[in-house]
Amino acid sequence: MKLGVVLRADNLIREKQLRQNRVVTPFGPVDRVFSGLVHNVEAHFLYGRFPGARTPSWEIPYEANQSAFDALGVDHQIGTFVVGGVDKSVRGGDLIIPHDVISLSGPSRSLPPLDGRFRNAHVIPTFCPVLRELLIRGARATGIPVHESGVYFSFYGFARIETDAELQLIERLGARLVGQTLDPEFTLARQRQRHYAAIAIAVDSYHDMKNEQDEDPEVFRARSREAIAVGREQFERIIEAGLAGHDEAAEGDCGCAKVAKGPHRDMFTSFPEHLL
Ligand SMILES: [Zn+2]
Repeated sequence: MKLGVVLRADNLIREKQLRQNRVVTPFGPVDRVFSGLVHNVEAHFLYGRFPGARTPSWEIPYEANQSAFDALGVDHQIGTFVVGGVDKSVRGGDLIIPHDVISLSGPSRSLPPLDGRFRNAHVIPTFCPVLRELLIRGARATGIPVHESGVYFSFYGFARIETDAELQLIERLGARLVGQTLDPEFTLARQRQRHYAAIAIAVDSYHDMKNEQDEDPEVFRARSREAIAVGREQFERIIEAGLAGHDEAAEGDCGCAKVAKGPHRDMFTSFPEHLL
């Protein structure tokens, strides 16, 4: 496994003496990857999705980020996320390891095929069971409480957060968390057949926020900053503990690379070509 993680992993960069890489991709240079060994696993930490200044979620250089992982030979990827909690079980500060994602908004982002032939990304299973297990085991080993499942609702491409009606709908659909960045990152990673899993921290909770209309925005922002900082440290500890107990022999049993057989080989990734 060559692991790519999207995370500002300040502690691991210092403790494991990770070295900074500059990768030139067809989508521009990426100079914020820190690489090295974590418990004998080659690991590459992309220091945040944003190259610096805060940008709208659709301006995140997803293609460049994934191409940097291409160049580094990354075959497994963990995305870390700051989200909103949707169902009643999630409170501000909670960690969640989602088991699936709903993306109904349409990010028209795609990577050019390496062999010149477009295929839809194969997404069954959605997240890699082996990587999810690594995260869950890491959380249990550190004693950091997490929700070990949940559907992430991807709300991509709007310069606002969700309306009350949208949040009610998302809750009724059974989603546990909502955020703007898991897709298209997930889809682009799967276009490159990378095994993918995610872990998120909820900075707020829909049900708590409903009663906090009068809260000072500065208080809310301070609480969010605190949750994000705590979340980053917890992500680092969980991933490190997961890697410490990782069994290489378990890789490959996950089903992520499974390809449909028979007359319609592309059934799970594309339409049968003779029908087009
Ligand atoms: Zn997998």
